[in-house]
Amino acid sequence: MRRATSPATVRCRKTGPLESRIEPLVRQLLVQLGENPQREGLRDTPRRVAESFAFLTQGYSQRVEHIVEGAVFSEKYDEMVIVKDIDFYSLCEHHLLPFFGHVHIAYLPDGRLIGLSKIPRIVEVFSRRLQLQERMTVQIAECLQDILRPRGVAVVVDAQHLCISMRGIEKQHARTVTSEMLGAFRNQTRTRAEFLSLIGLSAARTAM
Ligand SMILES: [Zn+2]
Repeated sequence: MRRATSPATVRCRKTGPLESRIEPLVRQLLVQLGENPQREGLRDTPRRVAESFAFLTQGYSQRVEHIVEGAVFSEKYDEMVIVKDIDFYSLCEHHLLPFFGHVHIAYLPDGRLIGLSKIPRIVEVFSRRLQLQERMTVQIAECLQDILRPRGVAVVVDAQHLCISMRGIEKQHARTVTSEMLGAFRNQTRTRAEFLSLIGLSAARTAM
C-alpha cells in the first residue's frame, strides 16, 4: 500500500515511527521463513508489509467521536434505517489473516439520526484492527447505541475467513454470520424479521 493512495494513514497515525519499527521485524520473519530478504523481489517487501499493516490497523488510532462530530442531528423520522452490504476487511487476531465480507446495520431512531456516510466509517474504526468477528459485531452495535440512543440497533456481519478457507478444502466457501440485536430488534420478533428479510436473510439462518 503506497502512502499516496492511502492518505488516511498519514492523517490518522504518524507515518514513519510505526512503519520503521515493523520493517526490521518483517525482514527477520523473511529470514526465519528461509528466504533471502536481499533478493530483488523481496527487497522492498518489509517496507510494503509495514505500510500495509499500519494501514490495516489504523482503527486503533481513530476515535468514533471525531468521526461522528457534527453528523448526529434531530429529526422526527422514526422508521427503520438500514444500511446494508457495507464492505469490510479485517484481520483475525488468531492468525493475522484477513476476514472480510459485509456488514448490515439497522436502527430505529428515537429523535436522532446520523449522516449515512458515517456508518461505514464507524465500521472501519472497528474492522481495521486485529479482531474477532463476534466482538466486532457487538462493538459496532454498542457504538451506535451509545451515539444515537435509538429504540433498537441490529448488526449482522457475514464474512469469509481466510484462516478457514486457505487451510481446509471442505471449508473453502464457508461463511460465518454473526449478529447483535439490541432494544426493539431483540424484543420484537416482527421488527427483527423485517430487518432480516430486508437484508435477504431469514430469521432461521441467523442464530439469535
Ligand atoms: Zn483466524
